[in-house]
Amino acid sequence: MIKIMNLYEFKNLLSIVKYSRRLGKKNLTPGTSGNISVRLGKNIMISASGSALGYLRPEDVVIMDFSSNLVKGSKKPSSEKHLHAKIYEMRPDINAIIHCHAPYVSSFAVAHIPLSKPIISENIFYFGEIPLAEYAMPSSDDLVNFTSKFFDRHDAVLMANHGIIIGGKDIKDAYYKMETAETYAQIYLNSIILGGSHDLSQKDIDEIYELRKLMGKA
Ligand code: 13P
Ligand code: ZN
Repeated sequence: MIKIMNLYEFKNLLSIVKYSRRLGKKNLTPGTSGNISVRLGKNIMISASGSALGYLRPEDVVIMDFSSNLVKGSKKPSSEKHLHAKIYEMRPDINAIIHCHAPYVSSFAVAHIPLSKPIISENIFYFGEIPLAEYAMPSSDDLVNFTSKFFDRHDAVLMANHGIIIGGKDIKDAYYKMETAETYAQIYLNSIILGGSHDLSQKDIDEIYELRKLMGKA
């Protein structure tokens, strides 16, 4: 984008480009799949529709308002703009959102298996569970409704036959959660191949939820 930009916008633009490319390096966002955004006060900075996040350039980023009208930039905002805007509206504590078709989490999304097996403490700590939202056409109103409703209690949601969407307190937090979710899915799948996991006990799980509460997570 965006010739006329203030320092705050410029810093956020650099972060979006940096973490998008990192998603690409980790094979979390193949081709032109996925989108990324940050909250900018009354606006949202978001990747343009059709951009390849792994190779994102500053001109592939735009600013829109909460009604998805273009504010700055020359390209169309991501086709999932309404979903991003809806999640920001619901959750004032979420300031960055990443949507990916990462291969392992998306495998669970196509198999309609939520990422809720208690196999690793870190995942329970960060996510509790990652529920599965019903399928709807990408970018449709149904997709917005079916997916956003889980954000009342969750920071990450699998989208059936599609991918995953994750919110974070900032872009680094959202990025780390994306890596964590993808690794969890990979380990979960490997454990099935190896004959099944030994799950954490209810006592173990309760302890982790206690720690979550102490650390200010819901
Ligand atoms: P955009 O390129 O329009 O952001 O769409 C990619 C995508 O993943 C749609 O679900
Ligand atoms: Zn998608």
